[in-house]
Order: sequence, then structure tokens, then C-alpha cells
Amino acid sequence: MTSSVWHPNTQMKEWGTFDTISKGKGIWLIDSKGNKIIDAVGSMWCNVWGHSNPELVKAITNQSKKIQHSSMFNLTNDPVEKLAKNLIRISPGMNKVFYSDNGSSAMEIAIKIALQYWKNIGESKKTQIATIENGYHGDTFGAMSVGYVPEFFGKFKKQLFSTIQFPVPNKYRIPKGLTLTDYQNDCLEKMEKRFSKDNNIAAFIMESGAQMAGGVIIYPNDFQRKISKLCKKHGILFVLDEIATGFGRLGSMIQYKEQKSIPDIVAYGKMLTGGYLTMAATLSSKKIYDSFSGEFNQWKHLFHGHTYTGNPIAASVANQNILMYEKYDLIKKIQKTSKIFSQYYDDISAIDIVGDIRHKGMLMGIELVSDRKKKIPIKTKKSINKVFFEEGKKNGIYLRTLGNIVMLVPPLSIEENELESLLKKTIKTIQAAKSHII
Ligand SMILES: *Cc1c(COP(=O)(O)O)cnc(C)c1O
Repeated sequence: MTSSVWHPNTQMKEWGTFDTISKGKGIWLIDSKGNKIIDAVGSMWCNVWGHSNPELVKAITNQSKKIQHSSMFNLTNDPVEKLAKNLIRISPGMNKVFYSDNGSSAMEIAIKIALQYWKNIGESKKTQIATIENGYHGDTFGAMSVGYVPEFFGKFKKQLFSTIQFPVPNKYRIPKGLTLTDYQNDCLEKMEKRFSKDNNIAAFIMESGAQMAGGVIIYPNDFQRKISKLCKKHGILFVLDEIATGFGRLGSMIQYKEQKSIPDIVAYGKMLTGGYLTMAATLSSKKIYDSFSGEFNQWKHLFHGHTYTGNPIAASVANQNILMYEKYDLIKKIQKTSKIFSQYYDDISAIDIVGDIRHKGMLMGIELVSDRKKKIPIKTKKSINKVFFEEGKKNGIYLRTLGNIVMLVPPLSIEENELESLLKKTIKTIQAAKSHII
């Protein structure tokens, strides 16, 4: 039977059919034929406690018996009130929470808040947005504009608004003759120079801690903190995207705390509901929020709102999720379990197509190359992703690569023995995939 479903970022002709996942338990996905595979990508980087966690399921069923959805337009509900308090409590410097239902929207909202802030305080010149090359902030038009990844968005370039882009110090591709520190200083100098010259920059937007979809680039120490200082010095709002990197993925609850860089606006998504329901949040400081306050006919309020904003079932599961981080001391557990990754560096880099291993917290990116010296990305006849998906499945893991990078983004609460098993299976998969490389 043919399906009527159109899949995301997928050449449908190459795939044809898809396995049906009918159940999940812990780190395992179980298909309709009863085959079990480890969810190595945490169902697109969002799963925290594994699948079918009873405490999270209970939060969903309990709330769904009371009220399933009621609008945030003119009304509120208990779960979103509680969640906002929870988020403010764990997010230093933040004061108010605006809800949406996916990360791209949360970033659109961050952009709109930043731009409108300057209008609200009567600064009409501040209209430009600065970003970092290869950042990724979502697939909608504003998010594509600020997170321009050429391979993904080239076809829509004409319709995107322009931004000021700065380079990122990529440890794997340091220009000849430079040290990583030189490289980082060059990037920062470029920013400082431009910031001193242009007084029209409204905001600087970047992912917090690491770039994910743009190629798993983990920032060198102090890069983010220094940018935040430059922004403060030059009157530019500092906007962070913690959608993929916050909530423990990189080993700390709030990545900007670790990076010592308090933003004016921050967005959370992916892990917010433990990976169970769709919800995202954009938080802002008191200074930003206060600028939106005025008489109705001053039109200073925020012009944004989605139908499903502040859904009470999603907020209930998010509250339960945050409670469990604290109850089970998840961040500590991640930091401990994360050490397992490093025990496998040698075995992974012994495979001759492995060019680089990038690891922090519960994230590993393994970049595959056909020439280690020249660092040329590998090519396969089918998409690399399809090859790894098929070989991964034979070894009992669900993989989704990012071009030539094998991503390991497992459920955050994965046990040490489970992670060891995942890493062994990943090594076998990379070895098996070698025969497909051209
Ligand atoms: C996934 C992601 C987004 C977009 O979130 P969606 O829920 O997919 O719209 C934004 N920023 C980062 C860093 C992401 O990884």
C-alpha cells in the first residue's frame, strides 16, 4: 500500500517506504514487526527520559482529563503559569516567558521581540541582525534568514532578509599557520570592528555552546562569553538559541550559565517536554519586557500569537520533566555517563574514514572523510544518511546523519551500559558503511 505522507528533508524517491514505529520503551524504538533499535538520535535530539516513561505519561493523561487546550488569548491556565515560574527560576537574568509550539517559532518570536524592543524605546535605526556562519535556528523564513546554512536554504535565498555574518572558529578546520586562539581572536576582532562602525545592529543571534545542524561545531572556551561582552559594550541585544544545547545536552542545565554569558533573550525547545509533546518558549529579561508596556493605543504590545500557544498538556509534561531533572539529579548523571564516550575515541578514530570526533555532554559528532589530510567529506552513491540508516538498522540502531557527520544524540538519561552498547554498534556501522563509499 502506498503512503500519503510526505517526509521532512527527504528525497521521497530514494526511500519509497518507511519502517513503522509502533512502540517505544526506554532507549528502544520498536517497529510494527517487533524489531528493536536504539534511538541514537533521541527522536531528533529531544528525548530526555527514554520512551514511555510512566511519570511523563501520567502527567499527560492527568492533564488531558481536565482541559486539553484553552487559549492564551484573554485567558491563562495553571500548567503554563507553573512552567513559566519553573523556567524563570532556572534561567538567570530572565523575567517573562512567551510560549510557542516549536523551536523555529520560538526563534521567530525572539527576532520579533528584539526588533520591536528598539522601536518601543524609539531607536528607529537599529534594524540589522548579526549572526554566525553555519548557525541553524529553524526552517521558517525568519529562522532561515538568521541561521543560513547554504545547502539547506539556497533555494530560498532571494526571499530571506539579509544579516551580518561572522565566521566561527572551527577546531577541525583551522586556517594554515594559526592556532585556535589566533583563529578565535580573528573572529572576535572582526565583530568588534564591525560593531564599532555600525550603530544599526539590533541583535546578535547565536546557538548557545555549540552549533548543531550547521556541523557540530563546539565553541572554544570563552568564545561565547566574549561575544556577549562585546554586545553589551556596543548596545546590541544578545539572543541565544538553547533549543538543542540547553537542558543537559551539552552537560549543563542552562548552557549560557556554563558559558558565563547572560542573554537578553533566550529560546528553549526540543528537550522542554522531555521530547513528548510540541512546545517551545522564548524568555526575555525585565528590561526587554518592560519596553513593551504602555497604554493600549501606543501599540507597544507584542504582535505575535499562535493557536496552540501555551497548551496545558504540553506544559504539564514540561513541568513534570523539569521536576524529574531535579528529583533524579539528571545533570550529574549526564556528566558521569558522558565520560563513556571518551573511552571509545581511540576505537572510533582507528577507522580510516573518521576525520574528527566532536563530543560534549550527551552529544557526539563523528565527521567522515575520504582523505584525512585534505579533510574531504566522504561521498556515497545513495545519500550518506540512507546508507547509515540501513547499516545502523542491521546493527540495531536508529541513525540520522547530518551530511557526512554521524550524530549520536541519545536520550539524556541513557545508562552507562546502554551507551557502551550504542558506541560499539556505531563502530560496527561505520565499518560496514565503508563498502558504500565512492
Ligand atoms: C531544532 C532546532 C531549531 C528549530 O526547532 P523546531 O522545533 O525543529 O522548529 C532551532 N534551533 C536549533 C539550535 C535547533 O536545533
